[in-house]
Amino acid sequence: MSENMNNSTLRRDPRREWILRNRLHPQHSEIATEDSSSDVLHEWMGPQGIKRKAPHNIGFIGPNGIRRIDRSGTQQAGSASRKEIAQQPSRRSHQIQHPQQYILVVADMTGGRLSAQDKDILGLAHQLAAKKAETAVMLVVFGEHKEAAFAEAGVDRLLHIEGEAFDGFSPDLRLAWLTAIERELHPDYWLFPDSGLGGGDLGRRLAVELDVHAATGLWQVNLKEQPISCVCRAAASTQDLTRELPRVILALSECAEPISDSLHAVQEFNLVRQPLDQLPRIQDLGAVAVDPASVSLAEAEFILSGGNGIRDWDGFHQTAEILGATEGASRVAVDDGYMPRDRQVGATGTWVTARVYMAVGISGAIQHLQGIQSCDKVICINTDAGCDMVKRADLALIGDSTEILAAVRRKVSELKQEKRHVA
Ligand SMILES: Cc1cc2nc3c(=O)[nH]c(=O)nc-3n(C[C@H](O)[C@H](O)[C@H](O)COP(=O)(O)OP(=O)(O)OC[C@H]3O[C@@H](n4cnc5c(N)ncnc54)[C@H](O)[C@@H]3O)c2cc1C
Repeated sequence: MSENMNNSTLRRDPRREWILRNRLHPQHSEIATEDSSSDVLHEWMGPQGIKRKAPHNIGFIGPNGIRRIDRSGTQQAGSASRKEIAQQPSRRSHQIQHPQQYILVVADMTGGRLSAQDKDILGLAHQLAAKKAETAVMLVVFGEHKEAAFAEAGVDRLLHIEGEAFDGFSPDLRLAWLTAIERELHPDYWLFPDSGLGGGDLGRRLAVELDVHAATGLWQVNLKEQPISCVCRAAASTQDLTRELPRVILALSECAEPISDSLHAVQEFNLVRQPLDQLPRIQDLGAVAVDPASVSLAEAEFILSGGNGIRDWDGFHQTAEILGATEGASRVAVDDGYMPRDRQVGATGTWVTARVYMAVGISGAIQHLQGIQSCDKVICINTDAGCDMVKRADLALIGDSTEILAAVRRKVSELKQEKRHVA
């Protein structure tokens, strides 16, 4: 929808809207490009938690002038390999030589890598940075990490704070560092993932420390408004609250598009005045092992998902157990009673963000692919080499699911036994 702003009054332009709806209009591409290159979103999360898409704004124009939408997922964030990303000629270099101000992002870095939510938040940070010249996005990383694609994710400056203490739960120590950063840089904004993986807790602690009324559950920022406003989930996600954007932001997944067209400097940054060592008030007693079967699909890192192509469900459950994977399913598998409803992945099930998604006997219907578009790596087992799931997958095994899953179980058991012998 097109809006003209005049003294904060929203004005609609029916002709412009009509051209946008009418793809055959000679001015359609021109106006659609203007809108999509500005702050118009082509994808956003609706208030009910369902992802909405404006299909006129997504995809690309093919050689015959027709807009194409790539359902294979290769256009999705996280699906292209680092080498592929680096080779993309369209990625422009983004350099901020002498930053005048900073936007700070404190990532969850689950498993030592940027999560899909972290990348969305870096995307949001850049939208805010674009509002002021010479604004750099700085990422704060606590402890060891394995991430190799900070440049592609939009990191202009990297503040890597090392130390064994950060391997565990250490909110007071982390907060001491964030307060030291605040004293030295006084960033325009602080952005955290509003997750249960650390960001939600740390962001709220910093907000209390800075005496800021943080925006929590944020899923949309209205950059065109002055002052900038944001929309946040409230009342146990039953209502939306529109408010002025504060300095401390705790954002939900898909709050913005991740960076996809630029390469950033990832210049290391060191604080001049580090916080003094202090005795921690919280003692970390270590992680508690959880049963992967009880992990909610939305939080699972490794999912083994079964569909209509599963012939041996006992074998499927055994494979999930031996791999330590959380179980998921297609709608057909759920409708047929093989899996409970809360295990359904897809548009009308759960949207998953796993690092590895293994789809067994699932054809890759659009409703299913929508639910896995934020997964980093997709592996599939299918008898049909031409199905959409094979097109979406980073690794495809063509063959019978029963035989391949049995082979996986044998191999993993052998490896585990070898490991026990060595130990
Ligand atoms: C409004 C709406 C909402 C929907 N929401 C969802 C949703 O949220 N999630 C969802 O999943 N679906 C959803 N669907 C259903 C979706 O359209 C598909 O029907 C469904 O995803 C298909 O499930 P499937 O891939 O398991 O089954 P099929 O499409 O039947 O595919 C089975 C696959 O298994 C393969 N296969 C067969 N035998 C073997 C074998 N022995 N070994 C290995 N591979 C084998 C086949 O080649 C095929 O690719 C929705 C549909 C509608 C209309």
